[in-house]
Amino acid sequence: MNFKDLGLSPALLRALADSNYTQPTPIQVQAIPLALGGHDLLGGAQTGTGKTAAFALPLLQRLSKATPPKGPRKPRALILAPTRELAVQVADSLKTYGRHLSLNVTTIFGGAGMQPQIDNLRRGVDILVATPGRLIDHLERGTAKLDEVGILVLDEADRMLDMGFLPAIKRILARVPKDRQTLLFSATFEDRIKQLALEFMRNPKQVQV
Ligand code: AMP
Repeated sequence: MNFKDLGLSPALLRALADSNYTQPTPIQVQAIPLALGGHDLLGGAQTGTGKTAAFALPLLQRLSKATPPKGPRKPRALILAPTRELAVQVADSLKTYGRHLSLNVTTIFGGAGMQPQIDNLRRGVDILVATPGRLIDHLERGTAKLDEVGILVLDEADRMLDMGFLPAIKRILARVPKDRQTLLFSATFEDRIKQLALEFMRNPKQVQV
């Protein structure tokens, strides 16, 4: 099995070759075709398995194929991550894999100034990577808009719940259109993760490594 067999576009295949990725990892083999097909996905995978590319590649491909709505670019994909470090890492991966596409990636997280983030949001965003608390701040100020989001990723959902982000996640989800694709990644599928999936996902396919 290679990346081409998974249905990825030439621009993404080129970026993967640039990164010297020769073979997809097991989570990528399972997740990429389903996510490209538009399914909701419940992914069981820890850091180090290649889970970031498993959601980033299909997300980039789906966005690059869709025509963005007219007007200033509002986020069409939102990735929620528990920490600043993970958010930055995910954004870096999206930029690396998306280097031959023209999609704008912006990161917002707590513990940093609001203004540079506001300026970035104002310049137009295709993909927003955010920690939940800081995203709520931007939603309250009206500096981030989620009404164009068609793909939502919850990365390390179990850690976000451990950190007490459930109320923030629920508030954010209330602002994201219901008609969307949702991808949830977690190291474990405990009851509270299943509950989250039941509440916020549509017939998710489960993949696990
Ligand atoms: P992750 O589990 O997403 O944190 O990824 C772990 C590491 O594996 C990252 O440094 C990725 O750049 C790398 N990686 C992901 N997929 C592949 C692949 N198919 N081939 C080689 N390295 C990969």
